[in-house]
Amino acid sequence: MLDLTVIPATNAADLPAAPLRLRHWIGGAWVDSADGATSERRSPAHGVAVSVAAKGGRAEAEAAIAAARNAFDTGAWPKTSGKERATLLLKVADLIDRDRAKIARQEVLESGKPIAQAMAEIEGAADIWRYAAALARTQSGESHNSLGPDMLGLVLKEPIGVVSLITPWNFPFLIISQKLPFALAAGCTAVVKPSELTPGTTVMLGELLEEAGLPQGVCNIVLGYGDPVGEVLSTDARVDMVSFTGSTGVGKRITAAASATLKKVSLELGGKNPQVIFADADLDQAADAIAFGVYFNAGECCNSGSRIIVHEDVAAELVDKIVALSRKVPFGDPLDPRTQVGAIISPEHLDKIDGYVRGAVAAGARVALGGAALPVGGLGAQFYQPTIVTDVRPEMAIAREEVFGPVLSVLTFRTADEAIALANDAAYGLSAGVWSRDVSTCLDFMRRVRAGTIWTNTWMDGFAELPFGGFKESGQGRELGRYGLEEFLEVKTVQMRIGQTRGAWVA
Ligand code: NAD
Repeated sequence: MLDLTVIPATNAADLPAAPLRLRHWIGGAWVDSADGATSERRSPAHGVAVSVAAKGGRAEAEAAIAAARNAFDTGAWPKTSGKERATLLLKVADLIDRDRAKIARQEVLESGKPIAQAMAEIEGAADIWRYAAALARTQSGESHNSLGPDMLGLVLKEPIGVVSLITPWNFPFLIISQKLPFALAAGCTAVVKPSELTPGTTVMLGELLEEAGLPQGVCNIVLGYGDPVGEVLSTDARVDMVSFTGSTGVGKRITAAASATLKKVSLELGGKNPQVIFADADLDQAADAIAFGVYFNAGECCNSGSRIIVHEDVAAELVDKIVALSRKVPFGDPLDPRTQVGAIISPEHLDKIDGYVRGAVAAGARVALGGAALPVGGLGAQFYQPTIVTDVRPEMAIAREEVFGPVLSVLTFRTADEAIALANDAAYGLSAGVWSRDVSTCLDFMRRVRAGTIWTNTWMDGFAELPFGGFKESGQGRELGRYGLEEFLEVKTVQMRIGQTRGAWVA
């Protein structure tokens, strides 16, 4: 018997009697695909059908782009005041709060994440809508009045236009809420494409936007796959910008596709985030945060802190602490409020996770805990055990690539320079962490490690006020904070001559 904390299946009566029926939202109408195609999503934890979504093609993507283009070029939204935009965004936030239990449940059913975390995700999303509402009223440009006695220069910020917003499956409601309210606050119009695996809560958000009174065509939702829907959204000349969150490989494809029309591209991509633990660190605090960083969302998290680099003097002690904590983390049925780690998104992804662990063992690493699928009473085998792999060397795939599962890799170091070199030894640069009681050690790390977010003596706090994004192959551009709004604004320069003082050029 496994010495782990496993939460068995919830009462089957709790499961939906029928899957949710999902349609595209195009130009204010809820529509099926012209050819009637659909795709079904089964709950990764329970195996029952939880949504049946219209499966869009080129025609639906193009119709949605046309609607967004028309709403931008001829509609009222880009010309509304900050106050009007803010009022709408606040209304949406209130509606999200009202429906949070319903939205969270659908998120659990489609993604397999635990209900308590889904609730926190939806509440966090409502907070972001409120923050973006506040920003909508603070938009301002610059004025220059020292350009000459009769010259006034203005720098205006205008909405960039029609934006394609393409999102992944791991935090569907949160990630669209890191894009859409900022795009709307800027005055843009949008076409949204959620992941084919988790479309339900984005459709629920569309229903709330409609209820809040967003004018028709300002936001459109097309359901379907990257090919063809995502590709049309990245290539069509009527789109001004693509904001994408997902894998680095797809981010590169989108950048290439968008280059034909030189669209702006904003990318939030993968990570292989290091946490360096110095010998003077508070090991209990570090162990708890490491467990959180690697098991949160079953490790299916761009910010997963799955690569720890620990001073060799304290490595054994720290690993023992993490193993002990890992045995206590409740894995199992995501509909049970006690569960902290739910199901893996798909059987194929579970095999991929397991492949990384097997590959590391074959290359000489050691499994200190886990390393196999997790049987959960009454549920299928789409769960993976909390897994700790030690004796990892920097060249192993498990140390370099996103595993995207509840799997921790442990590397060791002797000197600070060696630790920082190891931390920077990745194609990615999303986030990084340092654990030490010495402020100079922390400052040195902050300055020398190339990542968009540095956590010191903590891991994965998140605030709407703080920008988030990656260095290197983790992306370009930023979400959240003031930068989250700036991404969707274009700069226009105005030069005004005041009075008739311009001398004649032609004598
Ligand atoms: P993915 O790249 O497979 O898919 C993301 C989205 O892109 C989906 O909607 C998909 O349908 C669409 N897509 C696929 N091919 C496309 C194409 N050719 N053109 C346009 N769109 C296309 O990613 P995923 O598996 O859904 O999500 C996991 C990845 O997302 C991980 O790499 C993770 O690190 C990353 N992620 C990053 C952040 C961040 O903020 N940096 C946050 C969450 C997830």
